[in-house]
Amino acid sequence: MSHSTSTSPKVVVVGSGFAGLSAASVLASKGYRVRLLEKNQEPGGRARVLSEAGFRFDMGPSWYWMPDVFEQYFGLFGRKVSDYYELVRLDPAYTIVYGPDQRLVVPAQAEALEALFESYEKGAGLKLRSFLKQAAYKYEVGIRDLVFKPGRSLGEFLSPRLIWDVLRMDVFKSMASHVRSHFKHPHLVQMMEFPVLFLGATPRNTPALYSLMNYADLGLGTWYPMGGMGKIVDGMVSLAQELGVEIIYNQEVKSVKSQGGRVRSVLTVDNEYQADAVVVGADYRHFDQEVLPADHRNYSASYWESRVLAPSSLLFYIGLSKPLEGLTHHTLFFDEDFGLHAEEIYTHPQWPTKPLFYTSLASKTDPSVAPAGMENLVILVPLAPGLEDTEELREKYYHLIMDRFERLTGQAIRSHVVYRKSYAHRDFVKDYHSFKGNAYGLANTLTQTALLKPSLKHKTLSNLYFCGQLTVPGPGVPPSLISGQVVAGELMKEHPLKA
Ligand SMILES: Cc1cc2nc3c(=O)[nH]c(=O)nc-3n(C[C@H](O)[C@H](O)[C@H](O)COP(=O)(O)OP(=O)(O)OC[C@H]3O[C@@H](n4cnc5c(N)ncnc54)[C@H](O)[C@@H]3O)c2cc1C
Repeated sequence: MSHSTSTSPKVVVVGSGFAGLSAASVLASKGYRVRLLEKNQEPGGRARVLSEAGFRFDMGPSWYWMPDVFEQYFGLFGRKVSDYYELVRLDPAYTIVYGPDQRLVVPAQAEALEALFESYEKGAGLKLRSFLKQAAYKYEVGIRDLVFKPGRSLGEFLSPRLIWDVLRMDVFKSMASHVRSHFKHPHLVQMMEFPVLFLGATPRNTPALYSLMNYADLGLGTWYPMGGMGKIVDGMVSLAQELGVEIIYNQEVKSVKSQGGRVRSVLTVDNEYQADAVVVGADYRHFDQEVLPADHRNYSASYWESRVLAPSSLLFYIGLSKPLEGLTHHTLFFDEDFGLHAEEIYTHPQWPTKPLFYTSLASKTDPSVAPAGMENLVILVPLAPGLEDTEELREKYYHLIMDRFERLTGQAIRSHVVYRKSYAHRDFVKDYHSFKGNAYGLANTLTQTALLKPSLKHKTLSNLYFCGQLTVPGPGVPPSLISGQVVAGELMKEHPLKA
């Protein structure tokens, strides 16, 4: 670990999401003077926490997958995850509801999982074992050789070993056909396809390389940081501060000054910050189109329009006055046609006719997130980005989902609501400058992978870099942590500390 001096290069990082925090800490640990400017009054970006009426809601991510990536991150600084929060493995990992009396409860242990698959379909237990073995291989190659690449030139991918590995990783086959070549029962098929929804595209449009997500799901497991996902942010913020990062809130970056092909300073409403280099962890499209001057935009408006975005979401943060029966921490409601909902997200964007939805009940694991005897419920309905978002529509969908939720779980819920807040497109735009109100950034389709993603380096401003869920490696908390590390690595190569 190095310490900055008064002559160390000054780096301004924009945005305190996982990616910005990660980049800031890596650079500070190497001796750069780092200032992190955040538009909101608290850190975490999409992972902010809402504390109201005795409930503490994680506003964004709720699934803690790929614990190795978090361990690797804190390990960079000689720390462990357990120095910052307590992690528990969920068992059961989650439940999928297919109808009032049809549910699949996913156990954490491999033997129990294989027995469950076998009970659905003869031979499926052994097929699961071989599917996951292959998925583990993809995960290992993906983490070791792919996700830490900056995606700036084809040369990064041209080692004979990597080409051989990639050829064995089903890059040109879809997730949908890969899963169907192993399993036939529709419930098993849906369960194996669900993890790629985190990547923002349908199983038909996602390369089967991403069955590595099944290994993340069923091999590495679903975890939970006690106190909530906000504890990850708290840990990262205290680490950043220990390393000397100066975090300044309520500082929305409005413009930059450049000269000689370099950014010289970034400007907020009330301040100007000099910079030797700038890392943007804020929404890439917002910064490119709304903050940079017109003659320094990295991409055109039509380029951004033509990107396939990951979905937005309608969320309800709900405090309940009683415990809910028969539900686990995570529950997926797949009782309606997945194909129709996917079509209404991707092909003909519109508010869904019969939406699938997801519920998180963190209070099932963690009593600290709700008052005693009460429940902390978050409902998430995936929606197409860019839709009209009105109070009337939110209210209509609240009742539509509640009707189904009550029917499928066989209990009264609405009459026990003591706190409720909705959140959708308008809020994503207002709070994060999110392009079209997207929740998870850019979809990981084949034509938006690696080199084909918006570049982490600006084309003409030589000291301007981007990280986060709209660039490499993609959406999700672990990829955002990796993105910050990758961009810091590129910046350090091109703007090294003076000896
Ligand atoms: C509802 C929801 C559920 C999710 N569920 C999961 C999950 O279960 N598991 C998982 O792994 N991932 C999940 N994700 C995805 C994951 O949360 C994101 O991919 C990740 O948090 C993105 O981090 P980021 O740093 O790229 O961006 P952000 O979190 O968006 O951070 C960007 C920051 O930049 C700030 N900013 C924007 N403009 C400016 C400006 N001009 N000046 C200064 N600051 C600015 C913003 O305020 C924000 O704090 C979910 C996301 C959402 C929204």
